[in-house]
Amino acid sequence: MKDILNYQLQHNNTFGIVAKCKRFIEFETEDEAFQTAEVLRSEQEPFIILGGGSNLLLTRDFDGVVVRSAIQGLERVESPLGTETDVLVRCGSGEEWDKLVAQFIENGWYGAENLSAIPGDVGASAVQNIGAYGVEVKDLIYKVEAIEIATGKKTSFPNAECQYSYRQSKFKHGWKNKYLITHVTYRLGSTFTPNMRYGNISEALSAQEITNPTAQQLRETIIKIRNEKLPDPKIEGNAGSFFMNPIVERSVYERLKGQYGDTMPHYVVDEEHIKIPAGWMIEQCGWKGKTLGRAGVHAKQALVLVNKGGATGEEIVSLCDAIRSDVKEKFGIDIHPEVNIY
Ligand code: FAD
Ligand code: NAP
Repeated sequence: MKDILNYQLQHNNTFGIVAKCKRFIEFETEDEAFQTAEVLRSEQEPFIILGGGSNLLLTRDFDGVVVRSAIQGLERVESPLGTETDVLVRCGSGEEWDKLVAQFIENGWYGAENLSAIPGDVGASAVQNIGAYGVEVKDLIYKVEAIEIATGKKTSFPNAECQYSYRQSKFKHGWKNKYLITHVTYRLGSTFTPNMRYGNISEALSAQEITNPTAQQLRETIIKIRNEKLPDPKIEGNAGSFFMNPIVERSVYERLKGQYGDTMPHYVVDEEHIKIPAGWMIEQCGWKGKTLGRAGVHAKQALVLVNKGGATGEEIVSLCDAIRSDVKEKFGIDIHPEVNIY
């Protein structure tokens, strides 16, 4: 178990913000996770549970404990579901998500291809309900194993108890900071059915003259599309989409449609609710590609805020506030950060 005082977090957050914490603990086994929960109980210090730090913005040194899972491992487990096509795979929460997606495909276990190249760890995948290109991890999660910090008890949550919805879960709300996730079991399939409905996936495959992609071809295409559009945190610090896409009442959408007509992108969630891409609204406010101090808005996707080099967390927050205020003024819609800000 790693246990370090006065720890520098610059390489533990993909924004690359320079900030320290008072103590950093990394647990590698379930036993060490129990010990970590005990430390959190006895020390009574503020704490952050961290994965890869790719959905995190630090605005100051953290006067408390940061804990991280380094539990590794992937094992196929017996499926009580009794169907031959289901494959249950139990993964350590400290595994890198994208490394697992690659291994799933190598093993002939399908369903996660569209979630290729999402940074971060397995534990966070279950907290964030990561999603991309029309797929959400909630559709693959079978159960989540965790240790309750307050009691030190081991618990296992079936998917239905995690209250998953669009980029949301109970771990982000009622269970926030209550559990250390140790393992996630995913339910994959042994037959491959490509999901090419979203955006320009089909187009990108056709451009390579592929009509019936293999899972590996689909993965590579998704990675290519992402690399062309999203900044690599190793080169330019960022945390992916900084804001959530607002889901508004139909009446709000109708009002905006009256103003912007068919040029306004929108996606119907249900009869009464419409999703309006925040990136489009930010672009309409003139922010795309602009900077404020050392913080910037990515030139190819306005939803992504970037560290232009040496930015502080506060500079990123100032940019975030300026954007939110302009979007509110122009569209009458509040947009909210998806990123956890400390
Ligand atoms: P962190 O940011 O470290 O933590 C996220 C949350 O999970 C926190 O609340 C934390 O407390 C909690 N947590 C982490 N580990 C545990 C644990 N073991 N037990 C309990 N709680 C835990 N997201 C998408 O959904 N789709 C995308 O396509 C996508 N693309 C991205 C592209 C880029 C370039 C970047 C930088 C980010 C992107 N993201 C995307 C956001 C991010 O990758 C995801 O939110 C990811 O799940 C975060 O993983 P992490 O391990 O870095 O989590
Ligand atoms: P995009 O394809 O340019 O689309 C812009 C926005 O429109 C997205 O936010 C997306 O919502 C929505 N959208 C597009 N087509 C849609 C459809 N057919 N049905 C419903 N909604 C649709 O987005 P992008 O920035 O290049 O990202 C591609 C995918 O990767 C998206 O799914 C996005 O969520 C994901 N991504 C997420 C993050 C993150 O940090 N959370 C970062 C980068 C990329 P959705 O977001 O709901 O899909």
